[in-house]
Amino acid sequence: MGIYSRLATFIPKQSCALCAENSDFCICKTCEQSLETNSHRCQSCAAALTSDLHFCGACLAHAPRYAKAYTLYHYCNSSAALIKRFKFDHQLCIGEFFAHKMYDKYLDIVNKQGAYDAIIPLPLSKQRLKQRGYNQTHELLRIIAKKTNVPIDQTSVRRIKATRALSSLNLAQRKQEIKGAFCAKPMSYKKVLLVDDVMTTGSSMNELAKVVLKSGVGCCDVLILARA
Ligand SMILES: [Zn+2]
Ligand SMILES: [Zn+2]
Repeated sequence: MGIYSRLATFIPKQSCALCAENSDFCICKTCEQSLETNSHRCQSCAAALTSDLHFCGACLAHAPRYAKAYTLYHYCNSSAALIKRFKFDHQLCIGEFFAHKMYDKYLDIVNKQGAYDAIIPLPLSKQRLKQRGYNQTHELLRIIAKKTNVPIDQTSVRRIKATRALSSLNLAQRKQEIKGAFCAKPMSYKKVLLVDDVMTTGSSMNELAKVVLKSGVGCCDVLILARA
């Protein structure tokens, strides 16, 4: 254990995970605001837009299979650092923070758009699950699972193909790599919400949406923690 990791264990829990200032929770109010996304976003895939249009060029050319994507944060240095610590360093307080924020966002969406019949977290491959010990998306859904009665369906869709890390691939390679990665049982939900932590090109979510719709689901939306 390095000196910084050892020191980190002595910092009281009330220090902000980003700026180390005193805080009521593991992220202080100022840092929390810096994470929030006020960007004008694509109505379909939630990509940040620089024009006044409602949709990004990619969605206009080729609409995604899901109806609408929602994001909590913009994927930036601070959100990336937090997600990394939550995912790979198992920092529970950050997971707890995200899970509460996910719950708030979920209520907000449901109030505006109506309820979902189920939530489906993006499934990990067995190999990835074994490596990591848990599916981080289930952690993100913990408060929703506790406070609402929407089923979190972790069994209807399985990942049948372990893919290479998509981050090193370009868009065409990602699409090719993720093709055939999921298989699903027949489902009778009218409307589901697909959830993941980070979305960059959206290839994985699009593939998941395709499989879910083929399996009988009427329509699906997407909720992610951070959108690049
Ligand atoms: Zn802070
Ligand atoms: Zn778009």
